[in-house]
Amino acid sequence: MTRIRDIYADPDKYIGQTIDVRGWVRTRRGNKHVQFVALNDGSTIKNLQIVFDLGKFYEEMLKAVTTGSSLHVQGLLVASQGKGQSVEIQAEEFEIYGEANPEKYPLQKKGHSLEFLREIAHLRPRTNTFGAVLRIRHALAYAVHKFFNDKGFYYFHTPLITASDCEGAGAMFQVTTLNLDELPLTENGEVDYTNDFFGRQAALTVSGQLEGELGATALGCIYTFGPTFRAENSNTPRHLSEFWMIEPEMAFYEIADNMDLAEEFIKYCINYALEHCADDIEFLSEHFDKELVDRLKFVVNNDFVRLPYTEGVRILEESGRKFEFPVYWGVDLASEHERYLVEEHFKKPVILTDYPKEIKAFYMKLNDDGKTVRAMDVLFPKIGEIIGGSQREESLEKLQARVDELGLEGMDWYLDTRRFGTVPHSGFGLGFERLVLFVTGMQNIRDVIPFPRYPNNCEY
Ligand code: ATP
Ligand code: MN
Repeated sequence: MTRIRDIYADPDKYIGQTIDVRGWVRTRRGNKHVQFVALNDGSTIKNLQIVFDLGKFYEEMLKAVTTGSSLHVQGLLVASQGKGQSVEIQAEEFEIYGEANPEKYPLQKKGHSLEFLREIAHLRPRTNTFGAVLRIRHALAYAVHKFFNDKGFYYFHTPLITASDCEGAGAMFQVTTLNLDELPLTENGEVDYTNDFFGRQAALTVSGQLEGELGATALGCIYTFGPTFRAENSNTPRHLSEFWMIEPEMAFYEIADNMDLAEEFIKYCINYALEHCADDIEFLSEHFDKELVDRLKFVVNNDFVRLPYTEGVRILEESGRKFEFPVYWGVDLASEHERYLVEEHFKKPVILTDYPKEIKAFYMKLNDDGKTVRAMDVLFPKIGEIIGGSQREESLEKLQARVDELGLEGMDWYLDTRRFGTVPHSGFGLGFERLVLFVTGMQNIRDVIPFPRYPNNCEY
């Protein structure tokens, strides 16, 4: 069996040979002498043209060769005389694996809307668009592992079920085996979790960072790459309830090292996709976003702006722009503010640093001003925040004070990193789907993961 991508990668190797291909019919057209089938096997956006000579095959035999049906074809690969393809197969033998009733198969035409395709998300991987997105998604996932592996980072697996409710990154999905219709109660009338599966309250993780810090303070440099769950009711084109996050954590890195790594990492991934997914990116660019390739190259070829939050707020205040949400020092910036800085003011990705401590997590390192922390958010055109990170507070005393101030409990295991051999360290979290969104130029995060989960949607 030959995969179509291999044929296009080196057609001369196959021309003049009888080969075997298998795939799904995208279209069929022709006349009473010859029929042309465009076959796609998922290995590339490019279809392979199969030529059926009706001197050899009866039209009746091809009746079930309709859009969506699956075929096995054997034939001679020849250079094509027709426009639009370089090679084609002259069918000698074929077999239909499975028919796809044209009256019922929903993907008949080209150009279904993305909204329609979201309603049949179980079949949309068979479209050109989703084929391209999913191949790019794969390449980016591979690039993530390659980048960190080549740098000597270790892939560290943090738990998906956690009893730590202090991650603070968002609302959690509870995990329980208790019978919700008949909850065991304590004397005070509260749910008695000692009878629950883990003997205590548990939930799906919103971030692997705290456990990641334990990895970094043992292995030096680690990264996580796994599913993350947030039960926030954010019905936006940039939020999912289940998404994948990459969280590197590095001992001995200060904030500037952290920024350097984040910038190098993102550029590496984008470059990897540009090099390895050129056909798919070109297809998406042609159909959805003409500026895609330029935007990707621009990000790769330019330094990101590095700017303290305080400066960013000043620029926004002085912009004279009427924002939907007011801007003032201390506010958690909204997407419109982030995008103003990136798309209109600097026209470049921006790393915003040194945020007010009140709007950031408890573990971030306090600056000498006592008001701001060493946070760094990477802001991207079209996306807004793509990375959130910081240098971590390594002083036990200061961290303990913050934990007490916020009344966080059950943090002893985490504080042990500061109790025993504490070191300066830093890390960040990249939402994998936001990266895929940027690289594919798609508009909605629900279109860059095969089976999206969001409020009121848990199909398949
Ligand atoms: P936002 O403000 O955009 O909601 P956040 O500040 O809650 O993000 P962090 O807790 O810093 O996000 O998480 C790190 C990264 O994970 C973010 O920079 C973003 O890329 C990604 N991310 C966060 N929440 C989601 C989500 N619900 N769906 C997809 N990606 C997300
Ligand atoms: Mn953030």
